[in-house]
Amino acid sequence: MRSHLLNDLTAEHYCRSVKEGVERVAARIAAADRPFTGITVDELAPRIDRIDLDRPLGDTTAALDELEEVYLRDAVYFHHPRYIAHLNCPVVIPAVLGEAVLSAVNSSLDTWDQSVGGTLIERRLIDWTTARIGLGPAADGVFTSGGTQSNLQALLLAREEAKTDDLARLRILTSEVSHFSVRKSATLLGLGPDAVISVPADPGKRMRTVCLAHELERCRRDGLVPMAVVATAGTTDFGSIDPLPEIAELCAQHGAWLHVDAAYGCGLLVSPTRRHLLAGIEHADSVTVDYHKSFFQPVSSSAVLVRDASTLRHVTYHADYLNPRRAVLERIPNQVDKSLQTTRRFDALKLWMTLRVMGADGIGRLFDEVCDLAAEGFRMLAADPRFEVVVEPALSTLVFRCVPAAVTDPAEIDRANLHARKALFASGDAVIAGTKVAGRHYLKFTLLNPETTPDDLAAVLDLIADHVEQYLGESLDRAS
Ligand SMILES: *Cc1c(COP(=O)(O)O)cnc(C)c1O
Repeated sequence: MRSHLLNDLTAEHYCRSVKEGVERVAARIAAADRPFTGITVDELAPRIDRIDLDRPLGDTTAALDELEEVYLRDAVYFHHPRYIAHLNCPVVIPAVLGEAVLSAVNSSLDTWDQSVGGTLIERRLIDWTTARIGLGPAADGVFTSGGTQSNLQALLLAREEAKTDDLARLRILTSEVSHFSVRKSATLLGLGPDAVISVPADPGKRMRTVCLAHELERCRRDGLVPMAVVATAGTTDFGSIDPLPEIAELCAQHGAWLHVDAAYGCGLLVSPTRRHLLAGIEHADSVTVDYHKSFFQPVSSSAVLVRDASTLRHVTYHADYLNPRRAVLERIPNQVDKSLQTTRRFDALKLWMTLRVMGADGIGRLFDEVCDLAAEGFRMLAADPRFEVVVEPALSTLVFRCVPAAVTDPAEIDRANLHARKALFASGDAVIAGTKVAGRHYLKFTLLNPETTPDDLAAVLDLIADHVEQYLGESLDRAS
């Protein structure tokens, strides 16, 4: 069994195994004619259940053959131009290379003595990101597993910085279309059930600052503490960007921590043409960025950045075996002092390789392309009487629905759109998302693939319209 340990004696076996795996993936990626095969849970689950995990195959080729059957053949492929559902990007090759390197070397970023150069590379990338944001000389941050964890950590810092120990009085203000991890964080942080105040959004799905001002005033009158305002720079559904300068101003007036959730919108930090859309982000006390959304990085790669490095002390705990207090005096850089995690992947390496090969503008141009595509998609939808589109995108999502001329019952329109999404998924021809707007069912394109063309969008819209027509036809048959 020692032949499976990666070491000096097995380096050649390692190369062969990884190459064999890489070739399988490359072949699948090259051959995928649809984003998905349309396989169902009922078809796939027995195949996986049948495998006896206590009887190993003992051989890489056999294990890969099996993997083709249970995973590779039917996986959802984000690189396909007609995968336009969620905030999953196609990945860039330098980052995938970084991924292969980091898992083989297997540095752990918690302490200097487990990573050395990895620690310094991560720190450079944190500094690079805070400089792009404009957080100032005292800024810092740390890589995390994703936006959910970044938001949690930011709100934990905000809670500790709040001027009260009475958790029941703490409030977080965020728009009605912000990410659900804000609510989840409030629960994890022990805040009360009313802790999150939902601020209405305008028709463009941006937080209404008059309403925010009103809610902040109300907190003050009621003796509540506005612990944080969470502004979203790129809402998950609409890509809308809250008015950051005005929100920053209100936070300053009310002494509230400003967290900017730029999990999606962070791609603008490197956009050659759209950076101005993030104006005001430099006033944040903390920022979430998901490189695994708009920097074309593989999952996972995210960071939380803070204006004031000293606030990270709220997550600093010392263990004699790992990061003794003494190490701080000796100026040994132990990243665990800044993180919710202990053992932690060297995800930063992927971004490092990407910047070293492609450069920031290279990533930004790709993100610009998908924003341009979304603008084109909006024009198509707005001009097409079969559809109704909700907002003009600032980033790269489109929320819309099919509105068949012959149907007036809103519930029937809902059902027809739900059906179209399901039928499309079952066919595997395209993968799209759905959401609700004002209680009604809508469809959603999330465009993160520069290879997707306007023709792809047109073709998918035709497929949707066909599925809707088919559903309505069958619906008529059922009624008669
Ligand atoms: C995706 C997203 C998150 C959550 O990030 P994960 O990386 O999925 O944990 C948070 N906020 C916004 C606005 C998002 O779009």
